[in-house]
Amino acid sequence: MPIYLKNVSIGEQRGVNVLVRDGVVAAIGTAADPRGAQVVDCAGALLLPSFVDAHVHLDKTRIGGPRLHHAVTATVAERAANERLLRTQLKHDPFVFGSNLVRELSVMGTTHIRSHIDVDSDVKLRHVEAILKVREKYRGLMDIELVAFPQSGIIKSPGVAELMGEALRMGVDIVGGLDPEVFDNDRAGQLDRIFALASKSGAPIDIHLHEPGEVGLATIQAIVERVKAQGMQGRVTISHAYALGQISREQLAAILPQLAQQRIAILTSAPGAVNFPPVDALLDAGVLYAGVSDNIQDMWSPWGTGDQLERAMLLAYRNNFRADAPLQRCFTMVTENPAKLLKLAGHSLASIKVGMQANLTAVPAGDLETAILQRPARLFTMKAGRFTARNGKSLLPA
Ligand SMILES: [Zn+2]
Repeated sequence: MPIYLKNVSIGEQRGVNVLVRDGVVAAIGTAADPRGAQVVDCAGALLLPSFVDAHVHLDKTRIGGPRLHHAVTATVAERAANERLLRTQLKHDPFVFGSNLVRELSVMGTTHIRSHIDVDSDVKLRHVEAILKVREKYRGLMDIELVAFPQSGIIKSPGVAELMGEALRMGVDIVGGLDPEVFDNDRAGQLDRIFALASKSGAPIDIHLHEPGEVGLATIQAIVERVKAQGMQGRVTISHAYALGQISREQLAAILPQLAQQRIAILTSAPGAVNFPPVDALLDAGVLYAGVSDNIQDMWSPWGTGDQLERAMLLAYRNNFRADAPLQRCFTMVTENPAKLLKLAGHSLASIKVGMQANLTAVPAGDLETAILQRPARLFTMKAGRFTARNGKSLLPA
């Protein structure tokens, strides 16, 4: 059934009606015809493109269950060990909790995600099997790209590279990685294995890189060299890349054009405790840079709500942005920038016009900046012309 969104704002245009039919925006204007359509009064809410969250962990979350009491941990290795312990103690079921998270993300206005899935010597491919089922369950309602993620290392965990290869054959889309130098103590060794997996399968790469300062920069440079050598321009993502926020201005000015040229994307959760890649410097250099949730109430971290408006706020807050233009820039980092990474056509405010695939959300806010600053609850989420959530309730199957 067609849907008639009555009385929305699109940018500066107020009191607009939008007719959605056959998955696309079919008409916009005061004269759009509601006959035969489900009429939804939006009371002047601001219409936005839906959110794209290019880095979550569906298999780690405990959302919908009792809050976990986290241990005090200092390093990535300690957290990984703690998580493996929790996973066993809780007899964690990634299918149940992964489904919970997909539903929650729909409530937050998100329609497209990329999720990492742990592959290690304990769980082997069990999380992969579970999350592939989650993807099937929500096909058409939430688009899900999957990454085989070696949370406990590759060099330190013999057999994991082979399991990752098997995960790709099972339908996982992307090769993951983790701190080759700091976690695996073998920068070249881990990168060689990841790039070999990518070469053999044709899959892109998305590597977690928490390595600090000069160490991290050396790893980023090693990644750039491999992208060049293997012709993988536009197919490699570095998640976190903290080093880019921790090196000198001169070092940053030297590496950013290389990232732009090799079309290596950078993702950040705008973390609170460490410096991370600065928004203006990366975007000015033409680097594809997006904001992501990463962990959401899971065995790695108790933080996270999956709200991408909140992510835009955190990006703005941590960069000390106050003016409208930089706030708007943060919005592109949770919509059109990650959409480019996930190869989605136009997913910006400007792309809300007739013919656009109807991936939309709406918030009761006078303008975009207010939406970021106040983060009101979403009125609805629409994926390809179908409501996937309304008024704080997911319409996806439990
Ligand atoms: Zn992550």
